[in-house]
Amino acid sequence: MSAQISANALKLARQYNGINQRELANYINISQSEISRIERGLPVDRIDEEKIEELSRRLGVQTSFLTDNVRYKEPKRPMQRSSKTGVTASQANKVITIANLVQKHVEIILNNYIDLEVNFPDFSHSIIDTAKEAAKHLRSYWHIDNDPINNLVELCEYYGIIIYKSSFPTSSIVGLTMDTNTIEQPIVFLNEKIPTDRERLTLAHELGHLIRGHDLATDDEIVAESEAWEFAGEFLVPERELRRDMQILRSVSLSTLADLKRKWGISMAGLAKRLFDIGIINQNQYKSIYVQLSRAGYRKKEPIALPVETETILPTFFKMIRTDMQITKDNLCEEFGIRESMFNDLYGKYWGGEEANIRLLR
Ligand SMILES: [Zn+2]
Repeated sequence: MSAQISANALKLARQYNGINQRELANYINISQSEISRIERGLPVDRIDEEKIEELSRRLGVQTSFLTDNVRYKEPKRPMQRSSKTGVTASQANKVITIANLVQKHVEIILNNYIDLEVNFPDFSHSIIDTAKEAAKHLRSYWHIDNDPINNLVELCEYYGIIIYKSSFPTSSIVGLTMDTNTIEQPIVFLNEKIPTDRERLTLAHELGHLIRGHDLATDDEIVAESEAWEFAGEFLVPERELRRDMQILRSVSLSTLADLKRKWGISMAGLAKRLFDIGIINQNQYKSIYVQLSRAGYRKKEPIALPVETETILPTFFKMIRTDMQITKDNLCEEFGIRESMFNDLYGKYWGGEEANIRLLR
């Protein structure tokens, strides 16, 4: 017996494992050119089922996964990075692959097991002129008004945006969003390796993209990016409130920035930028604050660690599936098309403490 391997499935599974086509070819004794032809969707000879079985075991997926038609989606907007450099193609591909797999699995869960309400308005430019206005509207739509947002992850999840956190292969990629196909809830992916202040900024930026309905197929990337930052600034720290705070605090110093950080939950460097952007401080004052931040060593590590914001939708889903619906991990692996090793890797921390990815000392 033999079968055809799906192009996208092979590409996803290979990239997830962080191996190139040559390494994969060596695993199972197929030529590299054949792998390349499969991934490009070109005709190849059918492959023995034994070989497919071996390949699937190596890649941590079910055989059915390799032969099924699987989607491979590039995100609609670029991934957020903390620096322009230092990301290899294989690291970027791995993150996109994680996003594709989790998206597929979340769609399976929401289509088969659980309903989740979503309350997510469309404040795109045809409805609301500027990103700043959209941020204000969302604050009132979500009943936050002028208050600081204590827990942004909790807030987004409350309104049906699913957050998945994982340790990306590089800390230079901080987050991305995948728009889902068969469900309404978008999924935002965040890198666990980054501190909470950066994470909040990343999430607010992604929220800006979602609220504005950006899609690089139709929107200009530079415009979309600047709108997402404009949204994030106003959503996290409304200009009017910051002006009021500054009337009380008067001058900008490291200690006032620290007070503002405690209140609004964004980094001191981010607040300095925000004060500059809205014209409370001028270029020279901004530069001077920057020098002070650097001298104090705060450009590398800032004081005032903000509390971790833990995601709850996915852990709750898995708990319901496991305990209320009595579905085993094996059943779910079968449905997701992956093997236990990949399941533990992706969802171990959500499934239950015993599968956490730790090594016991003997
Ligand atoms: Zn962006």
